[in-house]
Amino acid sequence: MGKLVRISDSTINCEIVHRNIKYPRLEFKTGKLLLVLPIDHRDYNNLIEKHQDWIFKRSSEIVAALEKAQKKELNLKRTDEELKKSIYSIVDEVSSDLKININNIYFRKMKSKWGSCSPNKNLTINTLLKYLPENLIEYVIFHEMVHLIERKHNKLFWKFIATKFDNYEEKEKELFEYWFLIQKKI
Ligand SMILES: [Zn+2]
Repeated sequence: MGKLVRISDSTINCEIVHRNIKYPRLEFKTGKLLLVLPIDHRDYNNLIEKHQDWIFKRSSEIVAALEKAQKKELNLKRTDEELKKSIYSIVDEVSSDLKININNIYFRKMKSKWGSCSPNKNLTINTLLKYLPENLIEYVIFHEMVHLIERKHNKLFWKFIATKFDNYEEKEKELFEYWFLIQKKI
């Protein structure tokens, strides 16, 4: 079900789904507000009102990211095979840098993240990375593999990241922008 909600002076497009869950939640994963509600929850106006500051802030961030992203180009030429080849060689390089070996690399299209790394050293790569510039792909791999040293995004984690990417804040921002660009264009 789609719905338009007005918050301050903005109109926000919002999608509502009911699921077998206990508590309602709000998401912005695809750039659009999604209300996930328990089956018998009908009073979403209340929920929107209660969280309107958060919704407004989040949606403004996304609009700004999209505006910046319009100036960026997606790489529409890289094939899945080429992506895999790049990833394998980047993982090799990062493995020797960090002295960490990866067991398996899995490739799939993911809806909420660029990649993940499990404690048993399996790396999962979002195939949407093929649309990104090489240096951002390198950043994502490095980021995920540093999670094998430190799970959380704490000071130590960012210190490790900074050894290779001292501009990591810029990289994170770019990834955020590309995420919404891909949601819109692909
Ligand atoms: Zn992370």
